[in-house]
Amino acid sequence: MRIVITGGAGFLGSNLCDRLLNMGHHVTCLDNLITGSVDNISHLMGNERFRFLKHDVTEYMFIGEPVDAVLHFASPASPRDYLELPIQTLKVGALGTHKTLGLAKAKRSRFLLASTSETYGDPLVNPQPETYWGNVNPIGLRGVYDEAKRFAEALVMAYHRTHGVDTRIVRIFNTYGPRMRPHDGRVVSNFIVQALEDQPLTVYGTGKQTRSFCYVDDEVDGIVRLLVAGDSEDIHHPVNIGNPHELMVEEIARKIIELTSSRSRILYEALPEDDPRVRRPDISRAERLLGWSPRVSLEEGLGKTIEYFRLRLAHSS
Ligand code: UDP
Repeated sequence: MRIVITGGAGFLGSNLCDRLLNMGHHVTCLDNLITGSVDNISHLMGNERFRFLKHDVTEYMFIGEPVDAVLHFASPASPRDYLELPIQTLKVGALGTHKTLGLAKAKRSRFLLASTSETYGDPLVNPQPETYWGNVNPIGLRGVYDEAKRFAEALVMAYHRTHGVDTRIVRIFNTYGPRMRPHDGRVVSNFIVQALEDQPLTVYGTGKQTRSFCYVDDEVDGIVRLLVAGDSEDIHHPVNIGNPHELMVEEIARKIIELTSSRSRILYEALPEDDPRVRRPDISRAERLLGWSPRVSLEEGLGKTIEYFRLRLAHSS
């Protein structure tokens, strides 16, 4: 397939580029590099099936040749990033989704939207099935991301229903692994960097809030399965891809201290506004439709991620 991926220089996007190229596909990666980095794709630059275009996908994009699939992964996605870039986050979810859907329609290609567990907001049911409509504060600080993605999902379904575009929507839950930025503010990267530097681990609130962490290889595997799955009426509705192993934030802090043999202690800080109290995917739809479930244990995934950060911090010091 000839695949266009937006946000292809980001954490998930670049891991997807690797996987798609390994499968033999041609990949055009678009990124404006506001949160992505060429460091994530520099190893692909010599590959003749890979091309990078620095482009803001909220603007019209011209691709001359045929395209078989468009993957829209561009967006600030860490809470720290979308709080700092609220308007860009809304624009890439709204205008960027419109432009990329327009490209898919013009090229008669398949379309896959990277959506998020944030569409469920601060959920009142746990775990969250795709049929849950969510509990989102539209005007809160996090609303810029949640509502951008909810609008994006609505637009994707409208293009599917109105123009017959073959669309798919993945709702991505917390994902971690190599190529996360050390200072993107997310919990796993923060805690690992803090533990490796023997700094206190900053737990927000009581630390009793829960998240469920999926290793990036598992996440990419689920996304690719959704992309290549055969057409059926059911495939166009959102699919949760994440790991259902639910932990309290305090537990993840302790686990990372243990795995890094760190001398760090835990420091409790204020809880950010609208921070979801629980999050855990119901993945029965992914299991049934795609035969997918995560394989990598938390210990194994954290071990690889800690190694990555150890090397990265050693290089930058
Ligand atoms: N968190 C924390 N300490 C940190 C960073 C995050 O306690 O240094 C908490 C945050 O309040 C949230 C959870 O960890 O409850 C996950 O935060 P993250 O920013 O990774 O993403 P989210 O799941 O909230 O989108």
